[in-house]
Amino acid sequence: MSFDKEKEQLILALDLARIGFYDWDVVANSMVYNKHMLNDWGIADDSAMSLQEAIKCIHPDDQERVQKLVNDALEKKIQYSTEYRVIRPDGTIVWMDVNGIVKFDDEGNPIRFFGTSVNITERKQRELILEESGAMVRTFADSMPQMAFIADAGGSIIHFNQRWYEYISSPGTEGWGWKDLPVHHPEDLERTVRTWSHSVVTGEPYEIDYRLRRYDGEYRWHLGRALPFRNKNGDIVYWYGTNTDIHEERMSLERNRILYDFGFALSKGMTPQNIAETILTEGKKILKNTAGIVLFAEGDSFKVAASTNVPEDYFADDYFITEKRMPAKAALFEDRSFFLSNRLEILIEFPDFEKAIDRLDVRSLVSLPLKVQGKVLASVVFFLDVNKTFPDDLRRFFESLASQAAIAVDRAFLFQQQELQKEELRDAINARDEFFSVASHELKTPLTSMRLNGQLLLKRWEKKPETVTTESFFQFIHQNDKNVSKLVRLVDDMLDISRIRTGRIALRKEVFDICELTKEVVHRTQASTPSEVNLFPCASTTGNWDKLRIEQVITNLMSNAVRYGANRPVMTKVESKNGSVLISVKDNGIGIPKEILGTIFNRYERGPSGDIQGLGLGLYISRHIVESHGGRIWAESSVGTGSTFFVELPIT
Ligand code: ADP
Repeated sequence: MSFDKEKEQLILALDLARIGFYDWDVVANSMVYNKHMLNDWGIADDSAMSLQEAIKCIHPDDQERVQKLVNDALEKKIQYSTEYRVIRPDGTIVWMDVNGIVKFDDEGNPIRFFGTSVNITERKQRELILEESGAMVRTFADSMPQMAFIADAGGSIIHFNQRWYEYISSPGTEGWGWKDLPVHHPEDLERTVRTWSHSVVTGEPYEIDYRLRRYDGEYRWHLGRALPFRNKNGDIVYWYGTNTDIHEERMSLERNRILYDFGFALSKGMTPQNIAETILTEGKKILKNTAGIVLFAEGDSFKVAASTNVPEDYFADDYFITEKRMPAKAALFEDRSFFLSNRLEILIEFPDFEKAIDRLDVRSLVSLPLKVQGKVLASVVFFLDVNKTFPDDLRRFFESLASQAAIAVDRAFLFQQQELQKEELRDAINARDEFFSVASHELKTPLTSMRLNGQLLLKRWEKKPETVTTESFFQFIHQNDKNVSKLVRLVDDMLDISRIRTGRIALRKEVFDICELTKEVVHRTQASTPSEVNLFPCASTTGNWDKLRIEQVITNLMSNAVRYGANRPVMTKVESKNGSVLISVKDNGIGIPKEILGTIFNRYERGPSGDIQGLGLGLYISRHIVESHGGRIWAESSVGTGSTFFVELPIT
């Protein structure tokens, strides 16, 4: 075999460069080659070969492919470039990287096909080893119980193991750029990208905790770790990484911390209201996107103590007010816990709750009674907008939260009650002290006046006995009698107070006409005051009442009307209608401010009474007497215009 003269130098150069060269005369089907190719292929002699002979040297698995590529180059004029195995006569296999160009005549028929053949066996072997080790690593990764991944040197994931796909349940996440991580929790994304980029750039081991979204939508905490795999030059080739589920450990730590924080917060002596709010805040730390309600039991009823993420008008909803069977109320009144994982479970338990569920977009819920020594004090409900399973440990967490809260609520209520009692006691002591000072003043006034009168009379008797006439003596007795009456009334009132307190006022009922009785009181009052006292109409009404006590009531109202009546006329009426009698006493005096109209009937209560002395007992005693008769007493008034007091008694 020989080349044209002009090619000889080029062929020599290719030999030196250890590149094989062939030249095929297509028309004559005769192929010649340089020395290097001869050696590479292990061809025995340098005589020209036909194409078929050359193809025979190729590995049987590659022959058909190569033949097709040659045909394509000849017919479709496609460039020829391929790799294939050659089996040398001694049986060894070598890999060739073969390229070729076809020359055509003027009519487009191929006349020559020439090119190079480079031995790439070494490179191929290296690749094979790598491929095998890659496959081994992948098999290893697939057999791991954790999720595992392999990333390239640039940080892109080139392989996820089977567990990963089982976890996320959607294929096709390979090749992520690590800038868009569809299953990472949005809150952890930026930190993850930052940490991973840092490792990829510096080659430092990667370690991070983050939440990954499971197939059912739940985000679970994982520990992500990756180590670089370097080649002989120390360059990173791959990163091998794992994601280990640490959700339960993390949650149990978190729950313990929350219980601890909760206990600590509760130890600070909060009001029941604060406790209700704290329960919701702590619950929300575990159940994200949660709405919640705390109800306090109030006898057979309840009160909304706190709520979160629930629209204000929710509680005004007819449903909330009238419906007994709803989660918070059921926990409160039925003393049961509910852990319902999805809409269906909720509707099976609370069939009428559908409208309310949809309003709050509830998918699952927890509802718990807060009880102490078997008594349910409150209930708490958490509404979640995702389906949620409640494994035992989560249930236990909520139950511990509820029992801690229950104890705290109980203690807070007790404390509040004690505070209230203390306040009432303080008020009672203050009122009693004030009463004593007023009472001693009230008692002292008539006593002083009696004493002065007596001393005056005595002095006159000593100095000028002739001036002490029978008339002046009777005047003295008359005045003293008035003072004694005052004293008797005061002492009677005080006795009545103690009788009321100990429940010892007994009614002695008799049949009489209340109009007649009122007339007598009016006459008596008129005799003791310059003010005008009227009685009209006076409907004769007979009933069975305690005469003395009713007289006491009317006398008290009339004397108040005179005392606070600014010397203006007092109008009294006795009217009877619908089985009851209504006595009203109207004055045109100083009046009573609206805000105390109700309280003046309480013990020791006095209004703005100017200089007029009093013990604040008359109306209290009157109310007690009227109510003991099954009646009612009340006042209408406006300041400066006057007051009207009404007593309504059933006719029995
Ligand atoms: P007292 O008159 O001895 O203080 P009461 O129990 O009779 O005790 O009355 C309670 C308070 O009600 C009085 O202190 C006064 O402020 C107010 N009050 C009662 N009757 C009248 C009235 N007719 N006009 C204005 N204030 C009145």
